[in-house]
Amino acid sequence: MKVEIVSVGTELLMGQIANTDAQYIASRLGEVGMDSFFQQTVGDNQARLLQTIDLAASRSDIVVLTGGLGPTPDDLTKETLAKYLDLPLREDPASRRAMEAWMRGRGRQITPNNYKQVAFPEGALIFPNERGTAPGFALEKDGKRFVVLPGPPNELTHMVDRSLMPYLQGLTGEKIVSRTLKFFGIGESALAYALDELLQGQDRVTVAPYAGLGEVSLRLSVKLLEGEEAAPLLDPVEQKIRDVAGQYLYEVGKRSLPEVVGSLLLEKGCTLALAESCTGGMIASERVALPGISAALLEGVVCYSNQAKRHRLGVSEETLQQEGAVSRACALEMAQGERRASGADYALSVTGIAGPDGGTEQKPVGLVYVGLAGPALSVARELRLGGDRQRIRRLSMLNALDLLRRALLGQALQDA
Ligand code: ATP
Ligand code: MG
Repeated sequence: MKVEIVSVGTELLMGQIANTDAQYIASRLGEVGMDSFFQQTVGDNQARLLQTIDLAASRSDIVVLTGGLGPTPDDLTKETLAKYLDLPLREDPASRRAMEAWMRGRGRQITPNNYKQVAFPEGALIFPNERGTAPGFALEKDGKRFVVLPGPPNELTHMVDRSLMPYLQGLTGEKIVSRTLKFFGIGESALAYALDELLQGQDRVTVAPYAGLGEVSLRLSVKLLEGEEAAPLLDPVEQKIRDVAGQYLYEVGKRSLPEVVGSLLLEKGCTLALAESCTGGMIASERVALPGISAALLEGVVCYSNQAKRHRLGVSEETLQQEGAVSRACALEMAQGERRASGADYALSVTGIAGPDGGTEQKPVGLVYVGLAGPALSVARELRLGGDRQRIRRLSMLNALDLLRRALLGQALQDA
């Protein structure tokens, strides 16, 4: 079955917001065996929206509209669809009660236009909105299906997970299960090369690589037959991949590298301190974003100047003079000094040249050292990173966290 996403909103056309709603829906369609060949974006204008719906319905089986479900007059998606299908709008008592309770619970005044949000075209299957006031719905007429979802991304993603996915699944009866393996420290082409045979030779399980910043994901998917389980099909493929690239694998699932490292720290009951130069607190900020991390993160210092490296972290004058602040020795001393000063189990350090200025022939932009001091050992790694300042800083952060991840897992570490 073909799905066409229609995003409604003038702010999308003007480039004021990115169309993350369409992206999210599109990213989930494959799981239920849906195809998608077209997407449209249209402003808050009834005549143009009518044309858009007509075009979508002429070439797709299911039209999914997002946005324009709110109480204001420029929100006209539902009214326009009802007009297109020539169906009256009827208030739904259960949705009305839910909306009233939602508004009351937040101490908000209900105005007459709120009732517009709880009226639906006749025959609609209502998708409750647990995060806002406007429910979505699905509707079938003359063999075509229409789905309408609210625009605010937190409401939309929730409704897609709770209502749209089961709805679509019910239509195809097909179940596609996927599993994502995430790798850090190996490039997409290197991973694809290592897995060449596997990527070619699959019959039922498909393996698709995606590259992100410093990391690669492999998505394994399989279409299940009636009553079939996914694990017996996916497990052997996962095992083959682990045999080849297991040391780079940091996650089976959705978590990011910073999240995985955060959970590992908490699981192992270890504490961490940070000494950051070119990342300027980025690692600390990323850590602090994780709930519950206060049990593990003791402190983070931003030591930008040589003086700070010397006085706060005890990096030796000799190292700064002879090797420079961007050096393996300095990264090691920063981590060791921070570990001593904080009393943490582990300390991470980063020092490097993020650019765009400050590079020399011997020490070009993108040269970064990450250091780790732990109970058993201290190591530092040299990185040669490409890209702009922001990219270099982010990759430095991820590499530092990966070093910690490996240490926490007890992998043998050496200077590199
Ligand atoms: P509301 O009840 O808030 O008015 P709505 O269903 O009418 O919701 P819109 O008015 O179209 O939806 O959009 C509300 C907000 O949701 C927008 O300001 C925008 O921030 C966000 N939004 C809308 N459409 C999208 C989209 N396609 N992608 C990402 N964000 C979106
Ligand atoms: Mg609106």
